[in-house]
Amino acid sequence: MLGAEPGAVDSGEWMSVSIPNRGTLYVVATPIGNLGDLSTRAKTTLAEVSLIAAEDTRHSAHLLRSLGLETRLTSLHEHNEQSRVSSILGVLSAGESVALVSDAGTPLVADPGFSLVSAAQAGGFRVVPIPGPCAVIAALSVAGLATDRFCFEGFLPPKRAARRARLESLKDESRTLVFYEAPHRVRESLEDLAQIFGDRLATLGRELTKIHETIYHGKLADLSLKASNDVDIERGEMVFVISGAPPKDPDADPALERLLVALLKQLPVSRATDVAVEVTGARRNVVYKAALALQPAEPDEAQS
Ligand code: SAM
Repeated sequence: MLGAEPGAVDSGEWMSVSIPNRGTLYVVATPIGNLGDLSTRAKTTLAEVSLIAAEDTRHSAHLLRSLGLETRLTSLHEHNEQSRVSSILGVLSAGESVALVSDAGTPLVADPGFSLVSAAQAGGFRVVPIPGPCAVIAALSVAGLATDRFCFEGFLPPKRAARRARLESLKDESRTLVFYEAPHRVRESLEDLAQIFGDRLATLGRELTKIHETIYHGKLADLSLKASNDVDIERGEMVFVISGAPPKDPDADPALERLLVALLKQLPVSRATDVAVEVTGARRNVVYKAALALQPAEPDEAQS
């Protein structure tokens, strides 16, 4: 039944080959707060597999009870994942299917499962995603910031010095940035973000899909102020979405300018442009324009 994948549309292109008599590992997304977000396919999968590997079996038992399911659970969390992998591969080898779930959202996204999925792939087992809720995607979808390219940075380091160093290293990243943050660090992380990233637009998604869902949008400094005045800010789960660094104006790059000035003392404009493009990787038309503007004036013929 599970193998038949009801509802699947076969594009006729590449598909993974399932080896007969071997089970499938299903990576199942579960709600990030709102039970209504669990897909029909996720529920069917959780009902039909022989075993569910769960980050916290008590938490997942609660989910199963609310769905009226009694599937067997085993724990798979960051402290036992390595040792659990071989027993789960044993279940798959015996032809039984297994579902992997985390406490909330999509497994492996800042959650356990990497070792199991990579071992199952390496062992030639079929690994099937059952997609669904994910806080990164939910926050991006309402952030009103560029989503054509984004960069998920997971959790920031908990200690202030390490956090600030990480943010400094991301200062020039031009893609939209997404961070997860623990409730008790939201205020101090926002202070650091505002100080290091400056005047950028950002969105904070708190308690997404839950009763107290709050979405703040604005400049980082305003959001930091808002968070420090919000007595409930530390009560919920939080995602930060921050616009990327504005693209650098190559014309205003002082290093490029210094290089061109030096090159133009020895070389004609087009040769100096070629060398500067090779050294900096900047676009040729931009460098050529800057070289033209910087080329030394021809000596006045009347004076020579
Ligand atoms: N695997 C999950 C996913 O797909 O989003 C993320 C798990 S990670 C351990 C938990 C973090 O995700 C929280 O600290 C918070 O930053 C974010 N998160 C999870 N649920 C959220 C929600 N309902 N609203 C806002 N952020 C949430």
